[in-house]
Amino acid sequence: MKSMKRMEIPYLDFSGIHDPIRAELDAAWKRVMDREWFIGGAEDAAFEKEFAAWCGVRECVGAGNGLDALRLILTAMGIGPGDEVLVPANTFIASALAVTYAGARPVLVDPDRETALITPEEAEKHITEKTRAIMVVHLYGRVAEMEGFAELARKYGLRLIEDAAQAHGAVRHGKRPGAFGDAAGFSFYPGKNLGALGDAGAVVTDDPELAARVRMLGNYGSARKYVHELPGVNSRLDELQAAVLRAKLPHLEAWVAERRRIAEIYEDGLRGGKLRLLTKDEGNGYYTFPVFTPERDRLLAYLEEKGIHCQIYYPTPIHLQKAYAELGYRRGDFPAAEELSETGLSLPLYPGLTEEQIEYILEAIREFAF
Ligand SMILES: *Cc1c(COP(=O)(O)O)cnc(C)c1O
Repeated sequence: MKSMKRMEIPYLDFSGIHDPIRAELDAAWKRVMDREWFIGGAEDAAFEKEFAAWCGVRECVGAGNGLDALRLILTAMGIGPGDEVLVPANTFIASALAVTYAGARPVLVDPDRETALITPEEAEKHITEKTRAIMVVHLYGRVAEMEGFAELARKYGLRLIEDAAQAHGAVRHGKRPGAFGDAAGFSFYPGKNLGALGDAGAVVTDDPELAARVRMLGNYGSARKYVHELPGVNSRLDELQAAVLRAKLPHLEAWVAERRRIAEIYEDGLRGGKLRLLTKDEGNGYYTFPVFTPERDRLLAYLEEKGIHCQIYYPTPIHLQKAYAELGYRRGDFPAAEELSETGLSLPLYPGLTEEQIEYILEAIREFAF
């Protein structure tokens, strides 16, 4: 590392995404200000059409955030108290919380340690008479084995839900997340592949009736003003966020291509080295680039010292979170999820990361004493 000058590399930097399209973003929010219509207007309606088309499905309903998108799907499907929903043990806690908010019970499934995704084979072991749905999470931006899950859902009469919060722009056999299950929930949290300038989310589905129920539930249980058919919630996509998302959506493909290009350089630079990588997947949207080593904590501190800021997705699996003590799981119940959480860290990866920064990161890792 004597050869390279110290750099400061944030885990996430928006400038490579926002600066080149600043004029488009400014025009978007100005449009909303000029119209003075902030909820349930033209921007939301247009974004829903555009995003549904982008996903290759018929319907999109904006929501306040990704967690709400998922829980509205479950409630709209009639899933609630007494029901069980399969969820990966290593996902972000929101996937499980959506089930809890719907009143159902999350039943955790250990992922495959080579992909960090759950498989239909492992999921099948957890199906009971109470199971109503499988929530597959396209974790880190990689689409799960959806053909197998669709078959499993058919075999047991289950609903298939995609948590696509990390998978905007990913593909599997030419299809995009949202087009595989009965419905998918997206998050547009700022750091996601397609991010708003605040909280935002959406449900996509090919089922117009389900979409109508989600829309009603997210709008106080009302399809007509002041007529409330269900005890709904307030979770809508506001006009400002919708306008921003509309400005960004046309660039998503290019941003994901750039993520893939950077991931490729990491792959080439690290494959065969001391770090374990997940198996390669051409369709990955690379929300994160995780690497694994038993020396994780030492490596994390070392990279931090070099100015390279990494993230752990996620340091504590769901079954070991205090919030889910009630589920009665114990350490050792999900060995792959535990190993991933103890050994994984994700490298900076975003449009705007320079060749110099990438080389600096690779060089630092090569120089780390394992
Ligand atoms: C971000 C995320 C969510 C939640 O989205 P919010 O918009 O933050 O509510 C759900 N699931 C996964 C896998 C996520 O990464």
